[in-house]
Amino acid sequence: MKQNYDILVVGGGHAGVEASMIASKAGCRVGVVSMDKQSIGRMSCNPAIGGVAKGQIVREIDILGGLMGRIADVSGLQFKVLNKSKGRSVWSPRAQIDKRKYEKKISENILSNKNIEFIKGEVVSLKIKNGSIRGVVLRSGEQIRSKTVVITCGTFLSGVIHIGDRKILAGRMGEAPSVGLTEFLVDIGFKTIRLKTGTPPRALKSSIDWEKTNKDFGDVVPTPFSLFTQNFNPKNEPCHTVRTNLDTHSIIAKNAGLSPMYNGEIKGVGPRYCPSIEDKIKRFEHQPSHLLFLEPEWFNSDQIYINGFSTSLPEQIQVESLKQIPAFKKIEFLRPGYAIEYDCISPSQLKATLESKQILGLFFAGQINGTSGYEEAAAQGLIAGINSARAALGLEQTTIKRSEGYIGVLIDDLITKDTEEPYRMFTSRAEYRMMLRYSNTETRLFKKSQNNNLLNKQEVAVIERRLKDRNLIKTKTTNSITTKHLKTFQIKQPMPIKDYIKRPEANLKNVLEKTSNLPQGYKSKKWSFLEALDDIETEIKYEGYIKRHLQEIKKQEDNENLKIDKNTNYSLFSGLSKEAIEKLNFVKPETFGQAGRISGVSPSDISTLMIYLLKK
Ligand SMILES: Cc1cc2nc3c(=O)[nH]c(=O)nc-3n(C[C@H](O)[C@H](O)[C@H](O)COP(=O)(O)OP(=O)(O)OC[C@H]3O[C@@H](n4cnc5c(N)ncnc54)[C@H](O)[C@@H]3O)c2cc1C
Repeated sequence: MKQNYDILVVGGGHAGVEASMIASKAGCRVGVVSMDKQSIGRMSCNPAIGGVAKGQIVREIDILGGLMGRIADVSGLQFKVLNKSKGRSVWSPRAQIDKRKYEKKISENILSNKNIEFIKGEVVSLKIKNGSIRGVVLRSGEQIRSKTVVITCGTFLSGVIHIGDRKILAGRMGEAPSVGLTEFLVDIGFKTIRLKTGTPPRALKSSIDWEKTNKDFGDVVPTPFSLFTQNFNPKNEPCHTVRTNLDTHSIIAKNAGLSPMYNGEIKGVGPRYCPSIEDKIKRFEHQPSHLLFLEPEWFNSDQIYINGFSTSLPEQIQVESLKQIPAFKKIEFLRPGYAIEYDCISPSQLKATLESKQILGLFFAGQINGTSGYEEAAAQGLIAGINSARAALGLEQTTIKRSEGYIGVLIDDLITKDTEEPYRMFTSRAEYRMMLRYSNTETRLFKKSQNNNLLNKQEVAVIERRLKDRNLIKTKTTNSITTKHLKTFQIKQPMPIKDYIKRPEANLKNVLEKTSNLPQGYKSKKWSFLEALDDIETEIKYEGYIKRHLQEIKKQEDNENLKIDKNTNYSLFSGLSKEAIEKLNFVKPETFGQAGRISGVSPSDISTLMIYLLKK
C-alpha cells in the first residue's frame, strides 16, 4: 500500500469538493482520487445554484465552512430571491451561474490547497480489515491507504446514457462510467438501487430568435449566498423564457414510444419532481403549454441550456418538437438532451453522520446516496467531510437535527425513509420550515460551526458582527411608538414597536426609520442589514408559529435522545408488525426518533418499541 492519508475522498464533484475542503481545514492530510482532473466541481446539468429550499441549504453550507456559496457569489450571472410573493418560510436565494468560472474557481481551491493531494484514478474496490476501512484499490492495481474514506461517485456507478435507442456507457456526457465498485459494494453486503436523471438539450445561441422570447432579470438589490462575501456587485444578465405549445406536445406524445423512459429500456426510477418533458406532457395532459427558461451556460456563452425540456427522446424528435415554438424555428443543437441511469446505495445503511453502519470509517455522500442536485450533494459532502476528519482525529462526530437545518432534514429523510427515487429537497419536507429561513442561518448553526472549528477567526468575527446587528435591531423593537407618532401609524395609544409590527401591513424598517430607531450606519451594511431587518420582522410576525414549533421540538427531543442499541434484534419482539420487523432490522435506527420516521413503522409498532426501551 502506498501513501497514507487521514481522509481519502473518492470523486471530485460537489460532494467530494466540500468533503475534501472542510477536512483540509481541520488540518487533515487529504487525498482526492477522481477519474478526471479537468472535471473537478463540474456542474453536470443546470447552470444555476440555489432555488427553493436549495438556497437555504447553500446558506447552511456556508456557515458550516463550506465553499459552494462563496464560489457561487463570484461566478453568478444574476441573483434572485425566489418566492418573495409567498410566505416567508419559502423565500429562497438562487443564482444563474457561469459554469466555467465556477469550475475553474473550485478547481483552483482544491489544487492549490497544501493539505490536499489530487490522484487521478478509478477506485474499483476498498480495503477493509476487521470491519474498518483501510484504503482503496484503483483500477491500475495501486492501493492507497487512508484512515477514512468518503465515497462520492455521483452518477458514475455503472452509468448508462440514453438518447432514444442509443445507449452510451458513461458517468455523464463525455466521461467514462465507474465500473466494478457497485459489484464490490454488493459483495460486502451493501444494498444498491438503480436511479435515473435527465438533462435538456443545449442550443446554439445564434440559432434562437431572441425577439420572440421574454427577458427575465435578477433582483435589483442582489442577495449573495455567502455571509462572508464583501463588496457584492454581481452581473445581472437576463435569462429568457418561451412556452411550449400543442404542436410541440403532439410531436412528443406521438413519439413517446421512442423514449426509453416509456418503452421499458430505462429501469431506473426518475425524479418525480424534476420530470422529463415527455413525462410532463403525459402527466399534465390538460396543460396547453409549459414554461421553458433559456439560460446562458457562462458569460457571453454561445451555448444555451433549455431548462424545463429534459428528455431522452431521439435527437431528431427533440429538434422537431422544439421547432414548433416560434423562437426556435431555426434551432440548432450543440448537444441533445439525454437520460442517465446509475447505481446508488440505499442510504438507510448510513448513520446520521453519513458513516456506514457496517464499516467503520467509510462514509458516503452526494448523488450516490440517492439524491439529485448540486446543493444536496455538497451538503452531504460537507457533513461527511467534517465527520471523517473528526473520526481521523479521534474526535466525537457531529450531526444536524431536523430542527436546526435543511441539511438535518435531508440526511434524516435519507437514512430513515430510504429513498427509492432521486431525492430533491423542498420546503414542504421540513416540518419546522418557518424556523429554517435562509436569513437566520447564523442563529441556527453558528454554535455548531464553532463547536466543530469550521470557521476561521475573520469569519467568526463577521458572524459575531451580524449577531450584534440583529441584537441591536431587536432591542430597538422593544422601544415604543410614542404619542408623537400616533397619527403617522394611525393608532390611538403608544405601543411597543414589536407589537405594532405584528400587523400584516407593518414594515419594520419603515417603522424604525420613522420613529428614529434605525441604528446609525446601517446604510453602509446594505444587504446584510436589510436581511436582518426582514428576518426579525418575520420572527415578530410569526412569533405564534415559532413558539409552537419550539414546544414541538422540545417534546421530540426526548425521543431523539433515546438511543437504541445497534445490535437490537427486532425479530425477537412480539407485537411488532412483520413490515416493521423487516424495516427496523434493515435500517437499525440509531434513536427512537429515527425509528418513528421509518416508513412502514406504524404508531402501534412505536408503542411496542417504547415499552421495550422503557423496560430496558
Ligand atoms: C445528466 C444529468 C442530469 C442531471 N440533472 C439534474 C437536475 O435536473 N437537477 C439537479 O439538481 N441535478 C441534476 N443532476 C445532478 C447533479 O449533477 C448532481 O446531483 C451532482 O453533480 C452530484 O454531485 P456529486 O458530487 O454527488 O457527484 P458528481 O458531480 O457526479 O461527481 C462524481 C465524481 O466522482 C468521480 N468518480 C466517480 N466514480 C469514481 C471512481 N470509481 N473512482 C474515482 N472517481 C470517481 C467522477 O469523476 C466525478 O468527479 C444531473 C446530473 C446528470 C449527470
